[in-house]
Amino acid sequence: MNLIMLGAPGSGKGTMAKLIAKDFALPHISTGDIFRENIKNQTEIGKQAKAIIDRGELVPDEITIKIVENRLKEDDCKDGFILDGFPRNLTQAKALENFAKIDRVILLDVPNEEIERRMSGRRTCKDCGEIYNTETYDKTTCAKCGGELYQREDDKLETVRNRLEVYERQTAPLINFYQDKIFRAEGKDTPQETYEPVKIELSLVK
Ligand code: ADP
Ligand code: ZN
Repeated sequence: MNLIMLGAPGSGKGTMAKLIAKDFALPHISTGDIFRENIKNQTEIGKQAKAIIDRGELVPDEITIKIVENRLKEDDCKDGFILDGFPRNLTQAKALENFAKIDRVILLDVPNEEIERRMSGRRTCKDCGEIYNTETYDKTTCAKCGGELYQREDDKLETVRNRLEVYERQTAPLINFYQDKIFRAEGKDTPQETYEPVKIELSLVK
């Protein structure tokens, strides 16, 4: 089963992608995680992407598309995958059609005010990438690995607003592009509640 997780930054798509990945035994491919990994390891891609990401803009398509195309060639993707953060514009979506056939697109629907509120409390583990929120977790270290939590440069309010604008302008048109494949999930109080109808829907896809 080949899936795309679509939703605004901070909608909780990463969290949902992880739940899906676990239940359906699919590799979770997050382009944001791949870029952050490259930045941490100071690779050539990391160097090119850092400033762009800190501004909340999109990394150039040629770089991003190549990364995903190569990743999908790996062995663990042969029975399916869940893409999280890709595609993010029409160019990427059209390129993806040349190397993968998508079964379903999960759209996570969360109002902008809710997103801004959540993002300002978001903290990320610098070692394993796990995400926390200061509203529900008040420690400064990761519960999974003990790593230090930090606020991503692009989670600061100004950049969040810019990312939401980029989403509206570039990513939201994909809802139309994928209209026959979309399953809409409404953001609920907890990730588990939001995920429930998605799980049922996906269990019906062969
Ligand atoms: P979020 O979904 O919370 O915005 P991500 O971790 O998915 O965060 O992405 C962080 C940043 O990485 C994006 O704002 C963008 O700069 C870059 N990025 C991730 N995926 C893509 C993509 N498919 N195309 C271009 N840039 C991307
Ligand atoms: Zn951690």
